Amino acid sequence: MTKRGLLIVISGPSGAGKGTICKDFVKKNNCWISVSATTRGPRVGEIDGVNYFFISKEDFLKKIEDEDFLEYAEVYGNLYGTPKSKVESVLNSGKDVILEIDIQGALKIKEKVSEAIFIFILPPSMEELKQRIIKRGSETPESLTTRFKAAYQEINFISKYDYAVVNETIEESVNKIQGIITAEKCRVGRVINDYIDLKE
Ligand code: 5GP
Repeated sequence: MTKRGLLIVISGPSGAGKGTICKDFVKKNNCWISVSATTRGPRVGEIDGVNYFFISKEDFLKKIEDEDFLEYAEVYGNLYGTPKSKVESVLNSGKDVILEIDIQGALKIKEKVSEAIFIFILPPSMEELKQRIIKRGSETPESLTTRFKAAYQEINFISKYDYAVVNETIEESVNKIQGIITAEKCRVGRVINDYIDLKE
């Protein structure tokens, strides 16, 4: 029987580098990163179906009604949701799935999927975080302030997560996440079922 993949939830404040870490991680590992649906408009360079599925609020609400989302949340005034059936089918095929989602979404996953792993990405410092968001250049002064204030609130939720990765460099952070996943796969609880029939 194929062993179900691991569901790995990655969150962290805007500008901590989680997007870059996740992209690099997926390149180097045999796993799949879920593509969320959002009502936010695309940023320069973002591609529909690659970065997000950019949909109207009306379509998003219809998907909520049809229970198409594993979780969804409103973040900075826009709706974001994780497509349920695709995540389920990839997990059932034995591949690990990464969800790069906000804290509200992570808490909902925690209620629903007890075996999921929760990783929080932190910036090396709050000043560094501010500089990274400014450098990205994609925010208006108002949304910059919103995201920066939210970062402080988000960090308060870190105790709900299993692991914290301070993002000094992308390479180091990716290595740390690989280490976390390797250790999780060695947990007795995850391995024992393969041997249960051999106990006699
Ligand atoms: P951004 O607009 O910068 O791409 O994303 C804003 C926030 O929404 C980030 O914290 C990101 O992780 C989160 N996000 C992206 N997709 C989802 C999703 O499907 N569900 C939830 N709950 N949050 C999401």
